[in-house]
Amino acid sequence: MDSCIFCKIVVGEIPSYKVFEDENFLAFLDITPKKEGHTLVIPKKHYRWVWDVKENYSVTTNKVANALKKAFDTDWVVSFVMGEEVHHAHIHLVPRQRDDGHGSLINVDSKVEINKEEMLEIAQKIRDSF
Ligand code: AMP
Repeated sequence: MDSCIFCKIVVGEIPSYKVFEDENFLAFLDITPKKEGHTLVIPKKHYRWVWDVKENYSVTTNKVANALKKAFDTDWVVSFVMGEEVHHAHIHLVPRQRDDGHGSLINVDSKVEINKEEMLEIAQKIRDSF
């Protein structure tokens, strides 16, 4: 899909803070993170919804979630699907801490400010946790 921003990330036309890649999937940091480590896992092939994806999504998503657990020293990684803003299937993964200010549900309207240098460091920390 020519106009799809995530397809452009897949082919490297748009930069991303990449944390994991395999044959069929890519994971990178969300640019408006709801928390440090907020990651998106996408299929490389364009699908509109996660429910359309034919390849084995859960194996890769589990792998990324386990890396987030290790990187952020937590057992608690929430996942959610919205898909309103970007029409390319993606699963949000957010590592949580009990005192992170979100309560039991993640506040989907929240956003934390993280500068580019910190984003690079976070992506590296996650890559080192596989
Ligand atoms: P939604 O489609 O509502 O699930 O949200 C799309 C998510 O993609 C939002 O959290 C955005 O911050 C994120 N996003 C949009 N463009 C980019 C990008 N170029 N790199 C990383 N994340 C992005």
